Amino acid sequence: MKVTEHLKTGAKIFSFEFYPPKTEQDSVRFFDAARELKELNPDFVSVTNSSNGALPYRTVALSGVLKAELGLEVVAHLTCVAHTRAEIGEICSRLKGMGIKNILALRGDIHNLEGLSPRRDYSYASQLTADLAAMGDFSVGGACYPEKHPEAPTLEEDISHLKEKVAAGAEYLITQLFFDNAFYFRFLEKTAAAGISVPILPGLMPITGYKQMQNFTQMMKVTVPAALRKGIERWDGDKDGLFKFSVDYASAQAAELLKGGAPGLHLYTLNRSRAAIAILRNVKGGEGNSAKPLKAAEGQA
Ligand code: FAD
Repeated sequence: MKVTEHLKTGAKIFSFEFYPPKTEQDSVRFFDAARELKELNPDFVSVTNSSNGALPYRTVALSGVLKAELGLEVVAHLTCVAHTRAEIGEICSRLKGMGIKNILALRGDIHNLEGLSPRRDYSYASQLTADLAAMGDFSVGGACYPEKHPEAPTLEEDISHLKEKVAAGAEYLITQLFFDNAFYFRFLEKTAAAGISVPILPGLMPITGYKQMQNFTQMMKVTVPAALRKGIERWDGDKDGLFKFSVDYASAQAAELLKGGAPGLHLYTLNRSRAAIAILRNVKGGEGNSAKPLKAAEGQA
């Protein structure tokens, strides 16, 4: 089923992001995690792609296996900055052959090109989006950034380019992770005011360590609220304490997003199942819902 068909039903969507494992040991762990997460009946899982164009078929192959072996609906990420149009056509025909109906159209990170010069058939994701939409075989999604893309001079300019991506055929958007819901809600207002009306699925990730938090702030330029920073500092070195704090924080974030009208949740799993399972149990738990309001989770810091 295409993601857009799920979105049209109006039911909340729950999805997980994976990346192709690199070693045999990682693969074993990954498939264990994927099987556990399948038990939660995600509406789709997505599989990331390298941006330097080196290994696109790892994503294609993993997408095919997740669909054929585990019966999961898959969104294959496709980056374009290092590919020619002919290569994109070839990758798409392989995806189509494997029954993959959903693609997340991305430019890819320029800084990951490691000296390779971009091929220049594509400069922006909107161009890839237009090509994919013209093929007619896929439901096409795109990425967006509630705190603006790091290269964009302003959020307004970023949103104006996002509008071009939607006009080119992006039928829904998935956000960069964020730790303060105010950014997401402000983004919804600004995109709506700019005339963007496609669903915007929030991307969430529980922080698993102090170093990881620093990497995100530096690399992705996302804000870490003081309460989250304090909590992570407090529990650093205590694996169980940090896990509980992190899951509680993300669960509270998720509950507030869903209550505030988000069309669902996209969890960045880093190929692990435990935190994702705990968060979804918390937010889908109904009577047994243990997700505290965000303020309460923050208060634990
Ligand atoms: P674009 O939409 O092309 O935007 C990139 C920048 O260009 C923005 O600053 C935008 O404002 C600007 N821009 C767009 N159009 C124009 C224009 N016409 N003129 C001037 N400026 C313009 N990376 C990977 O390598 N692999 C992945 O699998 C992957 N998955 C991701 C999934 C999600 C949900 C998200 C949020 C990001 C993901 N990324 C991934 C990271 C992403 O590839 C990078 O952030 C990349 O730098 C931008 O990709 P984009 O598709 O958002 O680019």
